[in-house]
Amino acid sequence: MTNFRVLLLITSTLLGCSAQTAPVATTSPVAAKLEPGKEMRWVRDSAEYFAAVIQAYRLAEEQLEKRAHGREAGSWAVVMDADETVISNLGYSLGRVEEGGDWSEESWKVWVQSERATAMPGAIVFIDRVRELGGRVAIVTNRRQADCEATRRNLVAVGVIFDHLRCKDAESDKSGRWEEVRAGVGTGMGPLEIVMWVGDNIHDFPGMDQSMRTAELEVFEDFGRRFFLLPNPLYGSWE
Ligand SMILES: [Mg+2]
Repeated sequence: MTNFRVLLLITSTLLGCSAQTAPVATTSPVAAKLEPGKEMRWVRDSAEYFAAVIQAYRLAEEQLEKRAHGREAGSWAVVMDADETVISNLGYSLGRVEEGGDWSEESWKVWVQSERATAMPGAIVFIDRVRELGGRVAIVTNRRQADCEATRRNLVAVGVIFDHLRCKDAESDKSGRWEEVRAGVGTGMGPLEIVMWVGDNIHDFPGMDQSMRTAELEVFEDFGRRFFLLPNPLYGSWE
């Protein structure tokens, strides 16, 4: 079959014309490899992803308004994760697909240093509201110290106004760094009551881990109240 004939058939099919011998679409192994997987396409293309993220932020804001009530301005904080919570690295993931590679330390470093992460939907509105209500915003991320300045610039460039950014030393566990925020150690803000956590990984929430999956529902009690989880089907501790 000539290429022209194939083109005609495809065109007539797309236009809804009858085509008795419409060609069956085939995908070459190369094209399949370069096509993002379903979870990445969900993040990239679906309205549902945006809606889920914005919904979480909106519900967080409603809860926060209640929690801020009666609390002195400057006495409390919201702790947030950075990646896939405040900023999106979908550009990195799509780039890796194009290059035909998986996540790697080296390519991640290049991405972080490029400062090209974008703001997550709803994040800036939420953060601005935290500050308006008298709260402080502490971003506790597992990006490395060597990447912290690039991260800071990236956050500022996309319009995120925060009070404290704490990157990772050696320990991935964030509890020590949350405690610094609470106790006012090295934050320049004094002691703060942490009233809410926002993240995309179960480890972004105190006392939580993957074993909760099979635990009783009561373990999830703080979600939707002081813990707000954003969807991230691309990567996480669930892997
Ligand atoms: Mg994250």
